[in-house]
Amino acid sequence: LRDPTCWRDLTHSTDALPALSLTQTTVKLFIDGKFVESKSDKWIDIHNPATNEVIGRVPQATKAEMDAAVASCKRSFPAWADTSVLSRQQVLLRYQQLIKENLKEIARLITLEQGKTLADAEGDVFRGLQVVEHACSVTSLLLGETMPSITKDMDLYSYRLPLGVCAGIAPFNFPAMIPLWMFPMAMVCGNTFLMKPSERVPGATMLLAKLLQDSGAPDGTLNIIHGQHEAVNFICDHPDIKAISFVGSNQAGEYIFERGSRHGKRVQANMGAKNHGVVMPDANKENTLNQLVGAAFGAAGQRCMALSTAILVGEAKKWLPELVERAKNLRVNAGDQPGADLGPLITPQAKERVCNLIDSGTKEGASILLDGRNIKPNMTCYKEEIFGPVLVVLETDTLDEAIKIVNDNPYGNGTAIFTTNGATARKYSHLVDVGQVGVNVPIPVPLPMFSFTGSRSSFRGDTNFYGKQGIQFYTQLKTITSQWKEEDATLSSPAVVMPT
Ligand code: NAD
Repeated sequence: LRDPTCWRDLTHSTDALPALSLTQTTVKLFIDGKFVESKSDKWIDIHNPATNEVIGRVPQATKAEMDAAVASCKRSFPAWADTSVLSRQQVLLRYQQLIKENLKEIARLITLEQGKTLADAEGDVFRGLQVVEHACSVTSLLLGETMPSITKDMDLYSYRLPLGVCAGIAPFNFPAMIPLWMFPMAMVCGNTFLMKPSERVPGATMLLAKLLQDSGAPDGTLNIIHGQHEAVNFICDHPDIKAISFVGSNQAGEYIFERGSRHGKRVQANMGAKNHGVVMPDANKENTLNQLVGAAFGAAGQRCMALSTAILVGEAKKWLPELVERAKNLRVNAGDQPGADLGPLITPQAKERVCNLIDSGTKEGASILLDGRNIKPNMTCYKEEIFGPVLVVLETDTLDEAIKIVNDNPYGNGTAIFTTNGATARKYSHLVDVGQVGVNVPIPVPLPMFSFTGSRSSFRGDTNFYGKQGIQFYTQLKTITSQWKEEDATLSSPAVVMPT
């Protein structure tokens, strides 16, 4: 790193581990290859979720700044699109190396701003890094198709070409992985990119931008703006932005999908979830209970693929007390503290929301077997995404009843079945209407050579993130029909009939 701190006014020591602390910092914008201080008069505080202390502030970019960022993307597009695919691949190859070398520093920023444990934060960076590594296969992924001799002397072939300026809007829960689902895939295809990270966790994206610049991405190919609704509306409406990648809640995602589509853009929107883990009585009990507890409470439940509902089938209902015991043993602490299994929720408001949903559960007849709240215990909690360290446990007598529950739920992000019976696993995978299914795998997030295929209310759009689908999303086809005739085969009269 030439200057690892240029993206913010940094007054803290960079060797602050393990006691993370950061005095007030100002997050910059990244426009035309420069980290610039915003002139905005509207700023948002960034908190350390473990202490709730204010550790910095992020601007709501002004209209002029956002215009400058898009103009920079637009200006840099023709040259970047014309840069050979091998040169773009080289930038990404250097990038994956720099991310590896700086993985711990990125993770440290994630723990500081987002709250998850350091080990989990490293996983956040690592899963994003895998997408960057996948993007390095662009020379194969961008291949078009050819069909020679479709008629005499005539060949047909197609190219996958970039769209132009693309934009990304990211959530708070994976500060590195989700931005890395977006701009590396888009840029390796030849697009330029306008990124709006979550206003709660901008640090990781800023450092990732710096590393991309150091990898040789030309100035202007990636620009970063900050903000909330105004920035989102700006992205949805701007005529020079051709495609939007969104990950976050349904409330924002439905809105962005509708508004962006209305302005003629491609939009892919990964949204909320209610993921069920179906536990069959023939499952490996030890593994299953450990997997369930990890997938429900890891990252304090703030994962879109968290297993937030367990369905215990038949005799597996008897495992409930052991499930509770395992959950009791988890250690909650600040994410930078050794031995912490899970950190805090992102904000006090998020905690209040989770507590209210638990309350609604008891009011509607659910029993609380393990209550970790600091308020008195008092089934909306099933219908709504809780996004906290809460596992709702349902019971059924048969697999068919479990499948019906999962399929009746509007979300289709992920699900898992735990069983040692292949036929049961096959039946479940076949009949369940959910886009990502784990068989004895609690969080089945596909590796980047596949795509992230959440379905139903968890996704809007028709082309998924990363994998071959990601390449399709960020490219358009140009198909060329080419005829090179022998000299003596010149037409003798106009061809007025549709060629057949
Ligand atoms: P969020 O929707 O509040 O914020 C996401 C982004 O949208 C942010 O950049 C934010 O500035 C913007 N935004 C927020 N509210 C908006 C509004 N009303 N109008 C326009 N823009 C708005 O989401 P979050 O709280 O940051 O993230 C948690 C949510 O993300 C959960 O629902 C989770 O399931 C979902 N998520 C889904 C996936 C997936 O792949 N399906 C992955 C991660 C997170």
